Amino acid sequence: MNAPVAKPSRGGRAGEARWDLNLAEPLELVQSWGRALRSQGRVVFVTQRETLVRAFEEASRQGRSIAMRGSGCSYSDTFQNEGGVVVDTSGMNRILAFDPNTGLLKAEPGLTIAQIWRTTLPFGWWPPVVTGTMFASMGGLAAVNAHGKNNFKRGTFGEHIVEFTMLLPTGEEVTCSPRENTELYYSAIGGLGLLGAFTSITLQLKRVHSGLLEVEPVVLPDFETTFRAFDERRSSMDYLVGWVDCFGTGSSIGRGIIHAARYLHEGEDPHPEASLQPVNQELPSYILGVIPKGWTWMALRPFVNNQGMRLINMAKYLASRIHADGYTYRQPLAAFSFLLDYVPNWKFAYGPGGLIQYQSFIPEKDARRVFESLIEMSQSAGLPPYLGVLKRHRPDPFLLTHAVDGYSLALDYKVTESNRAALWKLAERMDPVVFGVGGRFYFSKDATCRPGAHRDVWPAANVDRFLAMKRRCDPKGLLQTKLFQRVFGADARTLATV
Ligand SMILES: Cc1cc2nc3c(=O)[nH]c(=O)nc-3n(C[C@H](O)[C@H](O)[C@H](O)COP(=O)(O)OP(=O)(O)OC[C@H]3O[C@@H](n4cnc5c(N)ncnc54)[C@H](O)[C@@H]3O)c2cc1C
Repeated sequence: MNAPVAKPSRGGRAGEARWDLNLAEPLELVQSWGRALRSQGRVVFVTQRETLVRAFEEASRQGRSIAMRGSGCSYSDTFQNEGGVVVDTSGMNRILAFDPNTGLLKAEPGLTIAQIWRTTLPFGWWPPVVTGTMFASMGGLAAVNAHGKNNFKRGTFGEHIVEFTMLLPTGEEVTCSPRENTELYYSAIGGLGLLGAFTSITLQLKRVHSGLLEVEPVVLPDFETTFRAFDERRSSMDYLVGWVDCFGTGSSIGRGIIHAARYLHEGEDPHPEASLQPVNQELPSYILGVIPKGWTWMALRPFVNNQGMRLINMAKYLASRIHADGYTYRQPLAAFSFLLDYVPNWKFAYGPGGLIQYQSFIPEKDARRVFESLIEMSQSAGLPPYLGVLKRHRPDPFLLTHAVDGYSLALDYKVTESNRAALWKLAERMDPVVFGVGGRFYFSKDATCRPGAHRDVWPAANVDRFLAMKRRCDPKGLLQTKLFQRVFGADARTLATV
């Protein structure tokens, strides 16, 4: 009989010496980051490679399936496994090597973006691609091949992975890079944790000469001017992100603010030794100087409804217009990159039903028309998105890529018991608009795609190559996720033999 499991706190190492594995733990609630997608799973925390190996062996022996989880920041059900085991690698987070001369960092998969930059920034190295939250882990970022506000320039997280090691469900551990085991390299990055578990990742960091960015906010009245402003800044700027007021109608549809930013060149920052210190990057503990940031979501909660969010979006848009054209300011890298982390637990402001995000990726020539349609369809259904974020992308070489040569618009929707069915129906009506122009979805975010959607998202040849790779790496179908079952439908069922 298995000894009772000693669970460390998340990310901690308490009790590691006495660690034992119990895959028959009671079921517990496993929720998407936005809390709208829920399942029951047996969560096992691993803090070292050996425990991970044992988890794979034990699960195989017991006929159980496993979903991998990093920090649990995905809005989708990609780390959920109804009734099965969820192996959480957030505590497997050691830095294995870091060379301050070359900026090469090798780490276990649970290391987060926050842990990376707090270690490497004083040496002048910043993660080349970061997400809107600093709490995502390297394993999770690799498995979804995450993008940042610089996707148009620097590509995805995976493009900076020079090597990784992966434990396959067969028990084999393989090293992959663009030169070694290349097919697995291009399949497992973006492979949604379905081929194996990352055990180490080597990342090439980006050299920076200052901890500050030069930021230009640009307020724009509609999508047409917004897309033009993105285009005009693509070659000169390192980061571009647009906030869209999704309550704008008619000629105001797509109005919002772009934040364009560039790294400072050597010599531009008079005090780089200060700005590169993590203490000068940390987000403030108080909002507006007085409200402890831990309380902010409570203050926001009464406004998270159609009327309140219309008001907040309008106020944000109008307030931004006070600056003259060409106004710029300097901002710490962390403050610019992780705006969403400013308000801890802001998702709780959405209430018990949580939120989902509908992020579609649309080729450039159709982006404006499609995004206008999606916003109009949402408004007419009485389900306006409360937040809209626009980014510019470029294609990448990974098998299950979500990127296109175009734009993505991420739309956040509040979920309640009473609007849930209508929201899913709305998504069902919006999907053909996206697929109709060769658009894609990103499965770390998707909550609503119907079974078979994977064959609309990717060319048949890519899907078939991925499934063939899954059969080779995971012949017994040990790695399963709720998302895989939901989206890959019949294709997933043929691969679920555990
Ligand atoms: C506020 C916020 C902002 C965000 N902004 C962005 C953004 O700008 N760009 C973007 O691309 N994404 C963004 N995301 C999404 C998020 O960054 C990704 O979902 C990322 O994968 C989360 O990493 P994680 O460690 O939480 O992984 P999880 O969510 O825990 O898991 C993601 C996937 O990785 C797999 N996985 C995890 N660990 C391993 C492992 N060791 N081996 C193999 N597979 C593994 C899981 O099975 C799952 O399929 C955002 C999320 C939030 C909450």
